[in-house]
Amino acid sequence: MPVPRRRHSPSLQGRQRAHKKLAEKRYSYCPKCQAVKLPHRMCPTCGFYKDRQYLVQVEK
Ligand SMILES: [Zn+2]
Repeated sequence: MPVPRRRHSPSLQGRQRAHKKLAEKRYSYCPKCQAVKLPHRMCPTCGFYKDRQYLVQVEK
């Protein structure tokens, strides 16, 4: 939150920033092909999500 400059000392600013970090990237595994995929997303490798196929492969 923006506050006037001197209201937070440099050490307080540093202490607050010590807890500010990026969250670790989350991922899960496809139960069908064990490939790494994003949670709550269709598997990009086999196209399955919740026992249903969503990605249809077109034969050439
Ligand atoms: Zn898969």
